[in-house]
Amino acid sequence: MGLLSLGTPLDWPQARPLASHVREHGITQFLHLWNKIKDRRGDKLLWGDEIEYMVITLDDQQRSAKLSLRQEEILKVLSQSSSEHADHDPDRHHPDLAGHPPTFHPEFGRFMLESTPGSPYGASPNELKRVEGNMRLRRKIARSHLRPDELPITLTSFPRLGVNDAPFTEPHFEPRGEASRSMFLPDQIINPHARFPTLAANIRKRRGSKVAINVPIFKDERTPSPFIDPSVPWDRDLFPEDGEAKAGAALQDHIYMDAMGFGMGCCCLQVTFQACSVQEARTVYDQLTPVAPIMLALTAASPAYRGYLSDVDCRWNVISGAVDDRTPEERGEKPLDLAGHTPSGGLDHASRRVPKSRYDSVDSYLSLDPANRKEYNDNPLPVNEAIRERLMSEGVDKVLADHLSHLFIRDPIVIFSEMIDQDDESSTDHFENIQSTNWQTMRFKPPPPGGAIGWRVEFRSMEVQITDFENAAFSVFIVLLTRAILSFGLNFYMPISKVDENMKRAQERDSVGRQKFHFRKEVFRKRNRHRVLSRNPSFDAGRNGGGEAGSGAEVAALGSDSGLLDRHSPPSSGRATPIRNHLHHHPSSSSLNGTKILNGKGGRSSSTPGSPRAWNGSGTLSPHQLQVPVEEEYEEMSMDEIINGKGDEFPGLLGLVRNYLDSLNIDVETRCTMGLYLDLVGSRANGSLMTTATWIRNYVRSHPEYNFDSVISQGINYDMIKKLDLIERGLEEAPGFLPSIYAKRRRDEDR
Ligand code: ADP
Ligand code: MG
Ligand code: MG
Ligand code: MG
Ligand code: MG
Ligand code: MG
Repeated sequence: MGLLSLGTPLDWPQARPLASHVREHGITQFLHLWNKIKDRRGDKLLWGDEIEYMVITLDDQQRSAKLSLRQEEILKVLSQSSSEHADHDPDRHHPDLAGHPPTFHPEFGRFMLESTPGSPYGASPNELKRVEGNMRLRRKIARSHLRPDELPITLTSFPRLGVNDAPFTEPHFEPRGEASRSMFLPDQIINPHARFPTLAANIRKRRGSKVAINVPIFKDERTPSPFIDPSVPWDRDLFPEDGEAKAGAALQDHIYMDAMGFGMGCCCLQVTFQACSVQEARTVYDQLTPVAPIMLALTAASPAYRGYLSDVDCRWNVISGAVDDRTPEERGEKPLDLAGHTPSGGLDHASRRVPKSRYDSVDSYLSLDPANRKEYNDNPLPVNEAIRERLMSEGVDKVLADHLSHLFIRDPIVIFSEMIDQDDESSTDHFENIQSTNWQTMRFKPPPPGGAIGWRVEFRSMEVQITDFENAAFSVFIVLLTRAILSFGLNFYMPISKVDENMKRAQERDSVGRQKFHFRKEVFRKRNRHRVLSRNPSFDAGRNGGGEAGSGAEVAALGSDSGLLDRHSPPSSGRATPIRNHLHHHPSSSSLNGTKILNGKGGRSSSTPGSPRAWNGSGTLSPHQLQVPVEEEYEEMSMDEIINGKGDEFPGLLGLVRNYLDSLNIDVETRCTMGLYLDLVGSRANGSLMTTATWIRNYVRSHPEYNFDSVISQGINYDMIKKLDLIERGLEEAPGFLPSIYAKRRRDEDR
């Protein structure tokens, strides 16, 4: 979640008229910032992860596992303890406690905690080696501040959230809260800080109804068909919204959920990278965009919702639906009211279509790299036209203006009365209000005012894993992949509509085993291919992972748009020419009521496939590459092929990462640790180890209490969570799920 401003949040009727004010000043704030930091360069590749936990309380008598709502108390002692650790804790000599001990943060769910390292890591292999230990230390600190009957667990979705046949929280509350008006979730599961209940209430009010999330149920041997959920209180009459389920919001054969907490109560694993410059950040953003659905599928860990096994393995669409504040007109469920159009560029809630929730996948690529062909940006892109024009008239390039004016089609949901008027030169609060409530697969983060932190990109699609071994493995994999992308100048571009198609596929049950995903076939820029694949030992671009210079010759060989250019050449270098002369992105656009829809299918008029675009750069894309029609650049591959490679042609993401590692001088021990991580990624991809989602599904289906009716009883849930905790601590083996060395390695570390 974004910053926790203190103050009095406005109810929706008061907040709504201030939306344009917040947007306008938000952009003013961005422009002030932009003029200060657009040429900032030379920052190091630093990065850090965020891990979210659920606090569970176990009752061995009842055989129940419930969500413990003690977030506030726990965070209070956790923040006090940072200093205490230095004196009393057995871990006090742990290097990660010195200087900057790990930090813990609140999250939406009152049963959730988030932790991050105290300061970001570097990208050298030696730094990567300490990630798992840091994660483990954080888990240990969290655990040591819980009660004996509580445990922190990194489960993406809690299988019995919102099941009211027995208490699922400790303490128990009835679902009759004003903020959510949910039939399943009490408001007491929401972080009590005023921001969070207001967020839930204002999303509901803007939308004009409760959110409606429908996840297909997993039809097991004895699941009724059609499935009409007996656990929905169809006839409740407490709030006006209670009729919605019956009136069509709840779909048959689906698990219906009606509150923000079902989505924002899920846990995830996020990784944030600092880039050396805005250009490099834009490259990283773009190249990781097609990787996001792949990593979502590979980390799938959430096959159960509101007491049932679902037919999906991932949380993504649940959260997307849980914060979907679009009006029926915006969602396309009611005809537009064109009379409501405000020509000033203000946005009326009934006068335009908005294809996606504010929690959804990325809609446009961001880089000025000529490899970012116009044809790839083939999603409809509604923008706030007035903001887009203003940004461009102030010198922001079209591509970035598109991105920002797309984020700024949204209303601010929570406005604090004390924060309405700000000093736009020093504050970014209005900007962050909109920016941080656009929850997309990637987030492009400008440097905060004041200096120390540079341009960053956040990778947001991954589900959190049960063990820190896995969390470290996936985080380290993404860091190394990012290094490979920058060092080798890799190109993963494909049409963004295909990335969206992959997002859908990624969430399906066992997509790792059963799906194919679109992916780019040729990921090398022509002249780099041989160089990278031949594993030339003298090839050492990127060896200086912290961002120091390699030789100019290497840079030239890698191509001027690899992101390295930016790091190695002075700001005024002529080699930046291709970026400035970037000629594409003249979207054919149709104006609709002050909201312009850019791009979209059929909007490809200015460049016919096959005709090289005119640009006068010194050449990273050969004419041949430009001539390949977009449709021939990608194909469908299995997860195994995308990760582990396909024949001689496609090295696989893991092949690229291994190649990058080979180009570094690293000691045997570090290499061995990295090898364990990469092997986990490869084994999950080829099916020799199962995903967390598959493990959970199999566990439920083989439990003696399970009736093959998709129902996850309190007892099954209790046994499963106990078992997962034992697995995490290395006290039970998990064959087919974790590598066989995990348990012993984990126990050794505890000694
Ligand atoms: P949010 O919740 O807004 O995504 P958090 O503060 O929870 O942000 O997490 C930010 C992550 O970025 C943490 O892992 C932190 O270690 C990391 N981080 C902090 N500073 C930098 C930096 N300069 N470069 C890269 N990552 C950073
Ligand atoms: Mg978080
Ligand atoms: Mg945060
Ligand atoms: Mg955030
Ligand atoms: Mg965070
Ligand atoms: Mg985050």
